Amino acid sequence: STSLVWFRRDLRHFDHAALFHALKKSQKCYCVFIFDHGILQHLPRQDRRVQFIHDSIIELNHELEKMGGNLIVRYGDPRDEIPRLAAELEAQAVFTNHDYEPAAIQRDRDVRDALTSFACDFHTFKDQVIFEMDEVMSLAGKPFSVFTPYKNAWLKKLSSELEAPPDFFFESYPVEKYQHHLRALTNQRIPSLEEIGFERVASDAMKLNGGMQAGMQLLTDFLTRISLYGSARDFPAVKGPSYLSVHLRFGTVSIRYLVRQAIQHIRTASDSHGATVWLSELIWRDFYFMILHHHPRVIQKAFKPEYDAIQWEHGEPAESLFQAWCEGRTGYPLVDAAMRQLIQTGYMHNRLRMVVASFLVKDLGLDWRWGEHYFARHLNDFDLSANNGGWQWAASTGCDAQPYFRIFNPITQSEKFDAEGRFIRRYVPELHALNSKQIHAPWKLGQLELQAAGVRLGSTYPYPIVDHDIARKKTLERYSIVKKPT
Ligand code: FAD
Repeated sequence: STSLVWFRRDLRHFDHAALFHALKKSQKCYCVFIFDHGILQHLPRQDRRVQFIHDSIIELNHELEKMGGNLIVRYGDPRDEIPRLAAELEAQAVFTNHDYEPAAIQRDRDVRDALTSFACDFHTFKDQVIFEMDEVMSLAGKPFSVFTPYKNAWLKKLSSELEAPPDFFFESYPVEKYQHHLRALTNQRIPSLEEIGFERVASDAMKLNGGMQAGMQLLTDFLTRISLYGSARDFPAVKGPSYLSVHLRFGTVSIRYLVRQAIQHIRTASDSHGATVWLSELIWRDFYFMILHHHPRVIQKAFKPEYDAIQWEHGEPAESLFQAWCEGRTGYPLVDAAMRQLIQTGYMHNRLRMVVASFLVKDLGLDWRWGEHYFARHLNDFDLSANNGGWQWAASTGCDAQPYFRIFNPITQSEKFDAEGRFIRRYVPELHALNSKQIHAPWKLGQLELQAAGVRLGSTYPYPIVDHDIARKKTLERYSIVKKPT
């Protein structure tokens, strides 16, 4: 039989559920990637994510060629392109991995319906998470809405899977076992970035390389410092986290491989704290996918419905304040450094995501969805579930979110997590001459100190756009509409 494997956010040729099953079940197996016109048409001409995908599929094609196949690349609407190609190849089945976003679920339904009309099957598999949808449920059979019990149940399930023979989890999906079933479609050429309407991103402060090799390099580097993760992960000036999120987003690394590395470290290293904390972060990722599956309404609404009654600021000056936040002109150096890191690199450190999200919602009184959408446009690793979860956490509207009366102080956060101002100086060079005591709140300095550092408030660097103490009180009032504190 003939099958077609449809690659989406799983751009690798190893440990790949759909590819493995297709190769195992069919004699001839073709591979395809579709540049989805509906998604691409709304993006700017220079987009790091499109470039990342493009680099990744070139590498993927190369690897598939070595195995006897290739990657067919099309541009258009997958609802038309997949059935058309499946018909051309006379495929009996299309294999792909689960996508959990509501729009993707609808797209897949449409593709499945179109394939059914000519008796072509559509098979989908779990691949991008360890446990999905309703695999980890409470004893009462309900989805969890608090992280810690979810994590405990997740870990328990993992232990039992690791023990159960055959050790399938560790075996993963050995694609190479059936690679002789791969087939190449002749006369294929991957369109250039320009041909699909994009150009390479001119300057990239943080070099972002697509592809499996780049993902593996980051992982190898991270594994040398994983035991320090627990203590280093909160300090944006330090190389603490793995920077693997964009690779997880596009599947150029395998989540099973990452979890296996973490577990091996926990089992064998003398100091397993860092790996334990990191594993916990990977479990947050599964947690938010699970939440999105059970509560797709979170895309528009607060997870806790009573929080939808909150009145956010709008019109002016809200719009201008939002613009200042987006552009890193709030007058709060750590917030500005973080927002400029996002613009310049497409990445933002997790601690800073929490700080700037809290600032938008609880200092500026703006709707968390404004920030969520801005992040969605700019983050290389944008993922609907984690982004929504993170924003609702910061806005206190989400599941297991921080209580609304806990409000980050942007100055204390700065003093604590960028004590020497190293991160701030990297992205807000106009403040570079301020010392580590002065740099967190320049408006508190005297004229002489500012002059000595070459800072002119209101000219070289803005005055703070909001007074944190006043904003804090307003926020407590704003949230008081939600009667019971969580
Ligand atoms: P590491 O610290 O090395 O963590 C390893 C991996 O664990 C990450 O790559 C990620 O896949 C996962 N992870 C870590 N923290 C979280 C978390 N809180 N929730 C879910 N998964 C997590 N992460 C995204 O992948 N995409 C997003 O769009 C996104 N938006 C966010 C928005 C806000 C407001 C907040 C507070 C957090 C957001 N996060 C998002 C989570 C987190 O900030 C990033 O995953 C992390 O900073 C990525 O860097 P890293 O790969 O170096 O992480």
